[in-house]
Amino acid sequence: MLHNDQLEQWDRENFFHPSTHLAEFARGNLQQRVIKTGYGCHIEDRDGNKMLDAFAGLYCVNVGYGRPEIAEAIAEQATELAYYHSYVGHGTEASITLAKMVLDRAPDHMSKVYFGLSGSDANETNIKLIWYYNNILGRPEKKKIISRWRGYHGSGLMTGSLTGLELFHKKFDLPLAQVMHTVAPDYFRRDDLSQSESDFVAYCVAELEAQIAHEGADTIAAFIGEPVLGTGGIVPPPAGYWPAIQAVLEKHDILLIADEVVTGFGRLGTMFGSDHYGMRPDLITIAKGLTSAYAPLSGSIVSDKMWKVLEQGTDENGPIGHGWTYSAHPIGAAAGVANLQLIDTLNLVENAGSVGTYLNDTMRAALGDHPNVGDIRGEGMICAVELVADKDMRIFFDGSDKVGPQIAAKMLEQDNVIARAMPQGDIIGFAPPFCLTRAEADTVVAATSRAVTAVL
Ligand code: PLP
Repeated sequence: MLHNDQLEQWDRENFFHPSTHLAEFARGNLQQRVIKTGYGCHIEDRDGNKMLDAFAGLYCVNVGYGRPEIAEAIAEQATELAYYHSYVGHGTEASITLAKMVLDRAPDHMSKVYFGLSGSDANETNIKLIWYYNNILGRPEKKKIISRWRGYHGSGLMTGSLTGLELFHKKFDLPLAQVMHTVAPDYFRRDDLSQSESDFVAYCVAELEAQIAHEGADTIAAFIGEPVLGTGGIVPPPAGYWPAIQAVLEKHDILLIADEVVTGFGRLGTMFGSDHYGMRPDLITIAKGLTSAYAPLSGSIVSDKMWKVLEQGTDENGPIGHGWTYSAHPIGAAAGVANLQLIDTLNLVENAGSVGTYLNDTMRAALGDHPNVGDIRGEGMICAVELVADKDMRIFFDGSDKVGPQIAAKMLEQDNVIARAMPQGDIIGFAPPFCLTRAEADTVVAATSRAVTAVL
């Protein structure tokens, strides 16, 4: 086995880490951590430190680490057929089975699934399909996409533009011109404190209506949103938000993309977030939970309404000019089949709902009255604790005085629990694997309380 010092040196010399402060890393100010193994909700590094991963990697290892059922399915697929493409009617037993399993679980009006590799490329696919759709329908002007500030939809050119976080735009010349952002549905952070939740929904709707009127509905193709805002701060929408937004979109013939990269396959305690909030999307983006990250695979689930037009398009123009070499990669597909089977066998969607609610309730009971905890919110197996400098005066720690990163570091140092200091605002995020037990939820809450007390 290589010595840790050797690995750390190679790491510094060769490895370009994503989403990392490169200069701080080079100066040795970021902790290097080499993860070796994982089982259940825990991971272990090369020094034998065991950590309870309350963020499931990047909210993706939904069935937990070390599942032999998925590892064996991957090994069997790699041995039998590591690769064949899925162009012009080719497939494998795994990719065809997975497509059927996805559609069996998706809302009834969905028709087909296009497989990619990451949430970002699935959203790129979605935008291309929407542009193609409107070109086939003879309305080439209807191309703009509305996203929300604080939405996260990926890191590509288009998807980085859709993402409504400044860090992902700054110095990259994004967003692209076809993208516009509207208000984030964050009731806790509303400017007008006199607004009730329903007043706030009406405000979000009025803002959207005003933007559509300003641009012209005939120039706007689609609206994209996560059922629960994720990377932008883990924000479930206020009651009635999605039906109200959907009514506006239908009125103006604007398509809806539900980005379910985080919420798809059970995180909210329902198979899809669209089911949870009564959304009727035209496209659903899936990734992380499709394979629980055992292999890279994503998908764009396409509605009946769009599918008919795509078929018509190929009659008029020939084969659809959109494909990745690794679309429906057999190893990813085999992982997906085994993963979805395991979710069913172990009732993990139900567990995400019940233990997730327990985690949220216990967190509220432990920290809800703390003077620096402004809001505790969540849905199913996702939870956020938002920190404030002064609760009554609504003074936020947003800039250089952020405490979330220190609290997350303390949790790891004191109790070996991993939570995520979210990149936006001052928020500690929790999104554990769905197999979390109540005892593990108690450990997470106790570690959070101890760290908040130690830092504040
Ligand atoms: N959409 C959402 C809602 C996400 O949370 C993410 C990643 O966190 C993405 C898209 C992008 O997925 P990927 O990182 O696999 O490209």
